[in-house]
Amino acid sequence: MTAQEKAEMLSGSGWMESQPIGRLGIPAIKMADGPLGVRNWRGSSAVTNAASTPQVLSTAFPSGIAMASSWDTELVARAARAIAQEVKALGRDMILGPTVNINRVPLWGRNFEGYGEDPYLTARMGVAYIKAVQAEGVIPSVKHFAANNEEFERHRIDETISERALNEIYFPAFKAAVEEAGVWVVMSAYNKVNGQWCAENPFLLTDTLRKRWGFRGFVISDWGSTYSTDATINAGMNLEMPGGEPMRNWLRRAQTQRDGNGAGWLTADKVEAAVAAGRVSEAAVDDSVRRILRVMFTAGLFDHPHSGGGEVDTPEQREIARTAASEGIVLLKNTGVLPLRAAATRTIAVIGPNAAVARTGGGGSSLVRPKYAVTALDGIKEAAGPHADVVYALGAVMEGELTEGKDAAKPAAELRDEAVAVARGSDAAIVVVGNAPKLEGEGFDRKSMDLPAGQDELIEAIAAANPHTIVVVMAGAPVTMTKWIDKVAAVVFAWYAGQEAGHAIGDVLYGVVNPSGKLPVTFPKAFADSPAYGHYPGENLHVDYAEGIYVGYRGFDKKGVEPLFPFGYGLSYTTFAYGPLKIDANAVKVGQPVSMSLSVRNSGRRAGAEVVQLYLAPPPSGVDRPAKELKGFARVTLEPGQAKTVSFTLDQAAMSYYDTGVHDWVAEPGRFTVLVGASSRDIRARGSFDLAQ
Ligand code: BGC
Repeated sequence: MTAQEKAEMLSGSGWMESQPIGRLGIPAIKMADGPLGVRNWRGSSAVTNAASTPQVLSTAFPSGIAMASSWDTELVARAARAIAQEVKALGRDMILGPTVNINRVPLWGRNFEGYGEDPYLTARMGVAYIKAVQAEGVIPSVKHFAANNEEFERHRIDETISERALNEIYFPAFKAAVEEAGVWVVMSAYNKVNGQWCAENPFLLTDTLRKRWGFRGFVISDWGSTYSTDATINAGMNLEMPGGEPMRNWLRRAQTQRDGNGAGWLTADKVEAAVAAGRVSEAAVDDSVRRILRVMFTAGLFDHPHSGGGEVDTPEQREIARTAASEGIVLLKNTGVLPLRAAATRTIAVIGPNAAVARTGGGGSSLVRPKYAVTALDGIKEAAGPHADVVYALGAVMEGELTEGKDAAKPAAELRDEAVAVARGSDAAIVVVGNAPKLEGEGFDRKSMDLPAGQDELIEAIAAANPHTIVVVMAGAPVTMTKWIDKVAAVVFAWYAGQEAGHAIGDVLYGVVNPSGKLPVTFPKAFADSPAYGHYPGENLHVDYAEGIYVGYRGFDKKGVEPLFPFGYGLSYTTFAYGPLKIDANAVKVGQPVSMSLSVRNSGRRAGAEVVQLYLAPPPSGVDRPAKELKGFARVTLEPGQAKTVSFTLDQAAMSYYDTGVHDWVAEPGRFTVLVGASSRDIRARGSFDLAQ
C-alpha cells in the first residue's frame, strides 16, 4: 500500500462506509445502526451517501433493557443472530452495537438501549450478542467506550470517575467483550473521561483496551467525536467516522456546531502531514490499517462479500421478536386480577396515549422502522378473542403529539372524562401509558422521572372508576408510580418491546404467556433516591461520579434506601420454592473456584420460568465493598410441580474487588456469604465459604 492509501483508510468515505481502496480490491465496510435491529441508514440521516439504496424496513426487536429483563442469554443470542442475518440480507457488513453503557441515572435518554445497572448482567448480555453477530460473519461494535451515561452535553461533558468505579462498574462489559467474546470493534464515546475526550484517551484506548485486555480489533470513533489528529491516532483511535462529503456537509450545519461535534481530523491529508512532521509515526498508521484489515479478513468480507438482496422480517425473525418481547415483560404488581379470564371480562376498556400507537423503541440512532408494528390495543383485542367487547379511549394526549380526528383539540379534562366513562362501564380497564421516542431518546435526557402528559392523573381517575384497573407501562427506564401504585390492581412493565410488543402484552395479560421478566434496574420511589442524585447532570461541563461504585442496588443497599421495586424483581402467575444451597467446599484457596447448587421447584399450578439470582457478600474487612453483588444467574423453565437443580461456579474474579493500590483485581481472604434469591431483596437460600490464602 502506498502511504496515501494507508492514510486514507483512517477515515470513512461516507456516512456509514469506510474507505474502499479500488486498486487493491479492498471494499468499504458498509455499516448500519444498531443495535436493536437494522436501522434505516437514510431517513433522518439524509447526510448519508447511501441515498441510492432503497428505503429499508426491517424487524424492530425489543430494546436492550427489555432483552436484559429476560435474563436469557440464549434469547439475546437468537435475536442478535437474526439482526446479523438482516444486516447481511440488506447488503451491509457491520452493526453499530451492542450498547453496554450502564444505567447510572434513571433520566439518561438512552437507558433503553443498554442492559441495565449491573455490570455482570450487562456483560453476559453483551457477550451473547457479540458472539452471535460474529458467528454470522458480521462485525459488531460494542459501544460507547467509556461511560456514556448521560445525554446532557454529551459532546463536551467531562466526567470525573474513580479508577475503581471505572473498573468495577463501567468497564466490565467492555472487558468481557474483549476477553471473552474477542470483539472485533469497539466504538469510543463522545464524552470526556477524567479530562480527556474518549477518542483521544490513551488510558482508555491503549493502556486499558490494548495493553490490559489484549484487544486486537479496531477502535471506531462515535459519529463526530474527534477533536485532533495526532493525539487521536497516538491514543489508539483507528477509524474516524463519518467521512467524505457527507461528513463535511454535516459538519457545516449550525446544529452540528451547536452540539459540539468534531470530525474531519483523520482525513488522509491531515494524517500524511502529521506523519511527515513526525508527530505521528508510520507504525501507528500501519497499526490502524492492519487492525482494520484483520477484522475485514476475519469477518470474511473479502471471501464472501455481502451483496444484499436477501429477505428480512422473515417469520422466524418475527417469532424471535415476539418471544423476546414476551420474556422481557415484567409483572410488577398483581392483586389477582391477572391473568384476565375471558368469561369474567366481557367488556374491556383500553385507554391511554400508548394504547393505540406502537412504541417500538426509544428515540435516536437505534430506532428501527419496521414493516408493521402491533399496538397494545390490537394485541389485547386479539388475545381477548371475538366474544369480548374491547372499547378504546385516548384519555390523554402524549406530550408533543397532536391528535387527529375527533380527539383533536379536546381539553385534557374532557378526554379524561370520556376515558373514565368507558372504564366505568367495563369489567376491566387497561391503561397503557409511558413515554415516547420524542420524550425519551438519544441526544437529550428526560426532564423528570414522572410520566408526562397528565398520565398520572389519568391513571388515578381510571382507578377511581374501576377496581380492576391494570396499568401497562411502555418506557425505557423507571417512571414515578407512587401517586397511583396503591390504587391499581396490577402493573405490567413492557418497556419498548419492538414490533411485536402488542402481541406480547396481550399474551401476558391473558396468561397465554406466564410473565418471567425481572428488573435489570432498580426502580426508585423518587428520583431523589437514586444514588447519582445530586451528582447529575453536572455543572460547567463537568460531572463528578461521586457515588463511585455505589450505582443502582449497590447504592440503595449502602444507604439503606427502600426502592419501589428492587433490582431483579418480577412476579409470575406461579410460585417457586427454593431448596437449601449446597456449597461443594467449606473453604477454598485463593485462585480456586467454588461450586454450588440448589433445587428450584415450581410450587404453583402453571408452567413458568424463574430467574434464580446469585449475589455474593464479601468478607468483613477494611475495604469498602458493596453489601452484595450479582455474580451468577440462571433462568429455569418448570412445569407445575417440576424441580430442577441449578448450579453455579464462582471463580476468583467473582470474589475480587479492584484494588487501586496495585491497579488490579484482588481476592481478599475471609468468609464470603452466598445469597440466592428471586430478586436482590428476596433472598431464599444462603450459605458461606472461606477463602484462604
Ligand atoms: C450514536 C451512536 C451511533 C452513531 C451512528 C451516534 O450519534 O451515539 O450510537 O451508532 O451515531 O448513527
